[in-house]
Amino acid sequence: MKAAVWNGPYDLSIKDVQVPTPSREEVLIKTKVVGICGSDLEIYNGRFKQSTPPMIIGHEGGGVVHAVGAGVSAVKEGDSVIVECVLYCGKCTFCKQGRVNLCVNGGVIGMIGAQGEYAEYFVVPERNCHILPEEISWPEAGLIDTLSCPVYAISKMNVPLDSTVAVFGPGPAGLFFCALAKMRGALKVYLVGTRENRLKFGPQYGADILINVRQENAVDIIREDTEGKGVDIVIEAAGSEKALNEGLRVLKKGGLFLLYGVFGGGPVSVDIQSIQMYEFTVFGSSSVNYPPAIKLIKRGAVRVKDLITHTFTLEELPEAFSSGVIEKRLDNYMKGVVLF
Ligand SMILES: [Zn+2]
Ligand SMILES: [Zn+2]
Repeated sequence: MKAAVWNGPYDLSIKDVQVPTPSREEVLIKTKVVGICGSDLEIYNGRFKQSTPPMIIGHEGGGVVHAVGAGVSAVKEGDSVIVECVLYCGKCTFCKQGRVNLCVNGGVIGMIGAQGEYAEYFVVPERNCHILPEEISWPEAGLIDTLSCPVYAISKMNVPLDSTVAVFGPGPAGLFFCALAKMRGALKVYLVGTRENRLKFGPQYGADILINVRQENAVDIIREDTEGKGVDIVIEAAGSEKALNEGLRVLKKGGLFLLYGVFGGGPVSVDIQSIQMYEFTVFGSSSVNYPPAIKLIKRGAVRVKDLITHTFTLEELPEAFSSGVIEKRLDNYMKGVVLF
């Protein structure tokens, strides 16, 4: 079968590899879609140190069950499924607490310790499969993972009914955070970014005020609009040092700060004193929650379709990475999916 193999920084190529065989509790999937994630880019350019080449990358995929191991009972041949990327042992202390993304023996499909999904077929544990409802098309299914991460993060947060929220980073995840914060009860959402073509999606996802930091000062605008107090919640979904520090400067005393963006490039400089002085609660989030994300898309509560600006075939993927379309977000790139 054909697969996109990452051979090292800036080196992705299509190779002929063996179709994997599912073990007892595994499922072989004939790939239909894989969403292209910001983390794929971090792996591609060598910034994500937990990934080691050569490996097949891709972790936001789904397809049709092609074969199942002898012990599989949850899915059968012919089922359409979307696959959760977190791998875990089910036995360690973290797994027993339900915190499977922290599993000491775990991994992530296509990222850490397991082959990925940019391939004609891939193998995953049966428990990672979720049945895809008929109402969700394959291209849309490529965004379930992208929604499932903000869903997981927001479900760990208290968003009071009259709260104010500032979201930094108007990528797909940032937009989903705007929508979910509104659903949870936020009264006013500020969306902060650098690209007009991304910010313009904001109102559709519940953002009330759009701030383009290339032209405006986010700290001044948010502080002034909140009568100097700042917002109750800041969500950093940009993975940018500037956004991180501006976020800390617009957070209300005693406020909640979610670190969601990926800072793959190494340590960044943070105004740590503000966290101590104003008693901020800062927390990280890096897992998924698929069932609610699937339901939200199925019922049209969160629209994902409009965000798909690019579709590629597997063969086109290396070029999509090397040409800068994904990395430099050329051609108003928002979210790409690979269709099979
Ligand atoms: Zn992802
Ligand atoms: Zn475990």
